[in-house]
Amino acid sequence: AKEQGRDRYRFYSSSMASKASLLLKLEGLLRQALNKNELSLHYQPQADVKTNVLTGIEALLRWSHPELGQVSPVKLIPLAEETDLIVPLSEWVLQTACKQNRLWQEAGLQLVPVAVNFSLRQFHQPNFVKMVMRTLEETRLEPQWLEIEITEAAIAHNLDYALQTLQSLRQIGIRFALDDFGTGQTSLSYLQKFSFHTLKIDRSLIQILKDNPHDSAMVRAIVASGRSFNLRVVAEGVENLQQLEILQRLQCEEVQGYWFSRPLKPEDATQFLVRSRVE
Ligand code: C2E
Ligand code: CA
Ligand code: CA
Ligand code: CA
Repeated sequence: AKEQGRDRYRFYSSSMASKASLLLKLEGLLRQALNKNELSLHYQPQADVKTNVLTGIEALLRWSHPELGQVSPVKLIPLAEETDLIVPLSEWVLQTACKQNRLWQEAGLQLVPVAVNFSLRQFHQPNFVKMVMRTLEETRLEPQWLEIEITEAAIAHNLDYALQTLQSLRQIGIRFALDDFGTGQTSLSYLQKFSFHTLKIDRSLIQILKDNPHDSAMVRAIVASGRSFNLRVVAEGVENLQQLEILQRLQCEEVQGYWFSRPLKPEDATQFLVRSRVE
């Protein structure tokens, strides 16, 4: 795992020494980010295909550094994993998302689960279950309003651990979503063994959707699997009406993507929730 982590930084430099010092520098920057409110969460709504009713909202991490600009979570998470900052970062993300959802609830807005992403390493952090339970208590968010998104890789890494972890958190009512479905070594047996609530069809499968049976075969198969296992299926990355109409025909019931809404700053997400209440 260590080697793999290092590999990621080959991009920046080839020499070990400067890699180490770069890492140190980035660690310092990230530590500051955590302390200086440079991190935030944006929220992307999910909706029912037929009624447009809001069904959920996914929290997405943003880092805006004064000099580096916007740092993508795709870079930020692996960086944090390389240092021990991944622990406070996981907590910060979960805390912030749960607190926000609780605030929306207290404001009388529509009740929706907030979805929070956890990487393989975050999911396998010692005390993951305790951290989640403690955060729910601290933020006073009821478990059913939290959905935890993980990928197949996070499960495959250690099946026994994953089973136990899902079981204990499902028991208290937390939902789980299987993220990026249809990309990895998708195994239907995961759907059988694990009690997921939601299946998220990866964006790459939505982007190639065309009006012909061949290109839509994967999505059709996933929607059918979802139905057999009684799961909520969300298509990710829906950008246009054509994709939406094909998804409707394939009887996919929920969507997330630019077509419905981009990820929104907290204030804008609040406005979105306010509007979806009055309409
Ligand atoms: P993801 O979990 O698959 O999240 C969906 C990504 O697709 C987000 O990118 C979102 O902005 C983008 N997206 C949504 N709708 C559309 C669309 O219609 N078209 C296109 N082209 N893109 C769309 P983002 O926010 O850059 O996040 C990228 C990835 O970083 C996420 O992929 C997730 O794996 C990871 N990530 C984000 N926030 C967190 C976090 O708090 N913790 C962890 N562990 N990972 C995170
Ligand atoms: Ca996700
Ligand atoms: Ca995804
Ligand atoms: Ca993804």
